[in-house]
Amino acid sequence: MIHSSPDDTNGSVVNIPIASSEEFYDPTTLTQSALFHPDHLEDRQQQQEQLRQAAFLDAFYNTVLHYLHETLDHIVLVLLAYSVLCIILYKLLFHRLGPGYRRWLVRKSHLPPCTRALLVTAHPDDEVMFFGPTILELRRRQCRVFVLCLSEGNHDRKGPIRRQELWDACESLGVRPEDITLVNATHLQDDPTLEWKTVTIANQLLRQVESLDVELLVTFDKEGVSGHPNHCAIYYATASLCLSGMIPSNCKVLTLETVNLCRKYLSIFDLPVTLLLSTNWVVLSWRARRAVQNAMRLHNSQMVWFRKLYIVFSRYMVINSLREINKSDVEFEILDT
Ligand SMILES: [Zn+2]
Repeated sequence: MIHSSPDDTNGSVVNIPIASSEEFYDPTTLTQSALFHPDHLEDRQQQQEQLRQAAFLDAFYNTVLHYLHETLDHIVLVLLAYSVLCIILYKLLFHRLGPGYRRWLVRKSHLPPCTRALLVTAHPDDEVMFFGPTILELRRRQCRVFVLCLSEGNHDRKGPIRRQELWDACESLGVRPEDITLVNATHLQDDPTLEWKTVTIANQLLRQVESLDVELLVTFDKEGVSGHPNHCAIYYATASLCLSGMIPSNCKVLTLETVNLCRKYLSIFDLPVTLLLSTNWVVLSWRARRAVQNAMRLHNSQMVWFRKLYIVFSRYMVINSLREINKSDVEFEILDT
């Protein structure tokens, strides 16, 4: 289509070509029309929505990362402070101060006074692996320690070897060879699948308590530290004797506390928790700890890789916490279960 307009200069008519509505081509008009096209509008809204979601996720991720970083910093600081506290506390226990000062500090052991004690275990190596600190502390106090081991530990057909290892380890902890009794009974074989009868154990135990006239009986608690059924069976036999009032009145009964897996491998870093939660405890010096570790190494037939790690990290190599039980405790425990 051609439109005519007057020319200002010479008054002639100039023909200016103008596109029809179909032929019209203007980028601005095209963009606007594209913008308002329903399909394009929807695409753009989707894009904006995706951008908004991406921005939100990004912000969320950055916030989490920031707080995680801060939390990790705090955890590291708390762990560091706790470790320093443990080391200071441990140093204080063995710091050489006069007796006047000593009483203001935490004691390194708290056990009832006794001159004759009986330790009852299930297998050769239990006496060091779990009760090493208690034996050493009792011996340091000039208490005569008797060991009653209820099986030869013949599960892997190493009974005779383990018997000798028991004597060697006990001797290295200061237990006299004649004070060790090893039971090799048909019904008390080292086997986690074999049920040890309460009455059989109780008979063995009572015979020893009465004949040795001990003032202290030390054994496992109901969880047996490692959860071994033979360990737990000794506790139930002891509890039944307490319940029936057959333990002599002058004999106290202490059971070794089972702690959770985390505390079990904290070595001296379990010290504050033990001192806070336990009424009877023993904490060994670093040197005495080495004596227990060396005694454990005498159980050479048991020295597999995880036992080597146990020797290094276990709190039972340096700390024992024990709970005194009596008839009312056992009654309450039965009612509770
Ligand atoms: Zn055992």
